[in-house]
Amino acid sequence: MGFQRQIREALAELEAAGLLRSPVRISGPQGPEVEINGAKVLCFCSNNYLGLASHPAIAAASAASPANDGVGAAASRLVTGTMDAHLDAEAAYADFVHAPAAALFSSGYAANVGAIQALAGPGDAIFSDALNHASVIDGARLSRAEVFVYSHRDPEHLQSLLAQHRARARKALIVTDSLFSMDGVIAPLRELHALARDYDAGLMVDEAHALGVFGPNGRGLSAALGIEPDVIVGTLGKSFGLAGAFVAASEEVVTLVRNRARSFVYSTAPPPMLARAAIAALRLVREADHARVRLLEHASKLRSGLAQSGFEIPEGESQIIPVLIGENRRTMQLSAKLLERGVFVQGIRPPTVPAGTARLRLTPMATHQAEQIEQVIAAFASIVLKR
Ligand code: PMP
Repeated sequence: MGFQRQIREALAELEAAGLLRSPVRISGPQGPEVEINGAKVLCFCSNNYLGLASHPAIAAASAASPANDGVGAAASRLVTGTMDAHLDAEAAYADFVHAPAAALFSSGYAANVGAIQALAGPGDAIFSDALNHASVIDGARLSRAEVFVYSHRDPEHLQSLLAQHRARARKALIVTDSLFSMDGVIAPLRELHALARDYDAGLMVDEAHALGVFGPNGRGLSAALGIEPDVIVGTLGKSFGLAGAFVAASEEVVTLVRNRARSFVYSTAPPPMLARAAIAALRLVREADHARVRLLEHASKLRSGLAQSGFEIPEGESQIIPVLIGENRRTMQLSAKLLERGVFVQGIRPPTVPAGTARLRLTPMATHQAEQIEQVIAAFASIVLKR
């Protein structure tokens, strides 16, 4: 009785703060348009940047897998769950990011939490960007290493923290997203890489939103900027159109991750068909140069079109476009108004973003048509007039 009442109170608190979330139901596949309540609307808030979430070649690879591999992995990787499909996918993704080895995970969340907790522990120090993804933050907590949070994209602050605290720690790990998921801005990877070298720290880069979009063949921002981090995390739920993730690094680092990452050791391996689909997706991503150019062209048109209508768009040059609104309820009202106009753009509220910075997170896809970009700009312009 008391428990149920307390839960109701927690929900009421969220509601009162404009923070209660309820997912929108999509019928049919993910694509440039999606169906919501029987109506087709333009989808401008997914991470399906290259449109691969409904690609027939990936679906075919997944459908062909059960005949050879069955459907389930039957156990954790370290028990009987390591199958040909997993090892083939790991080799393909390690090769993709030019790393000696990779470990496949069920999700990016599991990869970050597991890898960080595997690579740092009590007596070690983790230096983490203030706006890193929740999974990085949770991994750092789980590791029980000492955590130092440096100001967002601020190598000077990082340096002062390293100068103050590095010497006391055994191992040190600097962790950053390469492309920040809610702001669409890029980490100063070269500077972080130099600091990692100067202070004898490992550098771990979460390339979740950059793989498939930036770098030669979509290899990410580390490749684009010519640095080799000690650890690269990539997720398959974004440009690759699937779910799952990989941690790529030296053989030794990957061996330690496989031995120590709790989300790897104590979790059933991803289904082999996911691994087969991931290999098919990688082939498409490598060849998607046209799509990458188109995606970034769409993004730059959206940025300038919306800024002309008076929306606040912070500096950035990626496919992730934050339209800053500030107040939670107003953000959701604008999202609802856009949906009435046939454009689906989700509002993002705290704790996903800092309090007072609620926003519409606008993300085009390479598979959108030029007219659809114009339609979105017009829809935003019309909601501004009706303020
Ligand atoms: N890292 C970043 C930067 C992300 O944005 C996300 C997903 N939102 C993740 C990791 C987690 O990946 P996944 O969705 O595969 O769990």
